[in-house]
Amino acid sequence: MWTPSKRDTMTVWQQVELENRLVYYREIFQGKRIPRYKLARLFYVPFNGYKDKDELMNIHEHYHPKFKKWIAEKQHLPLEEIEKEIEELHKAEDITSNNYLELKATILKDVLSSCEFCENRCRANRDEGEVGKCGVDDKAYVSSAFIHMGEESPIVPSGTIFFLGCTIDCQFCQNWDISHEFGFERIKGRGTSAIQLAQHYFTLVKQSARNINFVGGEPTPNLHVILESFKHTQVDVPMLWNSNMYLTDMSMKLIADLFDIWLPDMKYSNKECATKYSKAPKYWEALQRNMRMIEDRGSGEYIIRHLVMPNHTKCCSIPLLDWINENLNTPLVNIMGQYHPDYIVLQTDRFPEIKRRVSTTEMYEVRNHADKIGLYWKSVS
Ligand code: SF4
Repeated sequence: MWTPSKRDTMTVWQQVELENRLVYYREIFQGKRIPRYKLARLFYVPFNGYKDKDELMNIHEHYHPKFKKWIAEKQHLPLEEIEKEIEELHKAEDITSNNYLELKATILKDVLSSCEFCENRCRANRDEGEVGKCGVDDKAYVSSAFIHMGEESPIVPSGTIFFLGCTIDCQFCQNWDISHEFGFERIKGRGTSAIQLAQHYFTLVKQSARNINFVGGEPTPNLHVILESFKHTQVDVPMLWNSNMYLTDMSMKLIADLFDIWLPDMKYSNKECATKYSKAPKYWEALQRNMRMIEDRGSGEYIIRHLVMPNHTKCCSIPLLDWINENLNTPLVNIMGQYHPDYIVLQTDRFPEIKRRVSTTEMYEVRNHADKIGLYWKSVS
């Protein structure tokens, strides 16, 4: 049973629009639904004997719609009842090594030797210790894990796990110390294992975390360890993917139906700005695809974060809000005004146009536009 830790974490649910948009999420931490990772490891998928990544991915795609249908039927039932049914049904089979979660984890392990977890597709052989463009090797490096009270009201208290490394290179990064300049050589080899990660979940939930919040840096390079950790935990809280969403189509397919709620970061709505300020040329293309996938293949429950940047309301903020409004079903948007120049922007004169804070006029313009098109943003901003 959860208890509120600050007033607005309770009163926020009195808002009908919010209550209707985060139904599964709320019911999981209230104990009325089962987190998706637990169901994925109970869903029988025979794949032993298949070795090739493409073959395994085909099996995954074959079973994805079946899993989607199955969780819709089972998610609200008592876990013991489902476990009993599965035990009866698959007496003769080895379900611990033939289930949907295991299949996903097996594919990710295979990809690690020529990594394409994110759209950089740098193909580093991380399995052999090679370091990817994201700055990490095959290990997951946890910078900190604690109860975060500063996230959006519906998700606090949040059991937040910060990973080192990042898949994009924002020139104004406000977390540069854990994203880029974390001194990899000094910590090399001292990563966090899947079991240690699962121990973090246990501790965070004991400290009243309402969810497990994977963030960074960026969680994407750690996908293989995170999925492995799901085999070693029993926590009954929603799993939350808090990310720049620069994942490949394949990575996104593997996690879209596994996480219960999403905090996608949407900064730009064009290739030029994403390339210039974050060295992420496929950003807009990937973001659109991955956001649709959350709705088509996953829970469809998310809070989009949009950081308003100086001199970027016309090229990014306004078109982005329009795209969200026209293409997504039930968006909640946190329109954030805390941009400040940092990292490379502060160290050089290469980006004078973003070397200041966002003005009140710019924030008003963006928020006013959100109101004009009817986007729901106030209770999460
Ligand atoms: S996650 Fe890292 S290693 Fe993998 S493709 Fe992206 S940048 Fe390269």
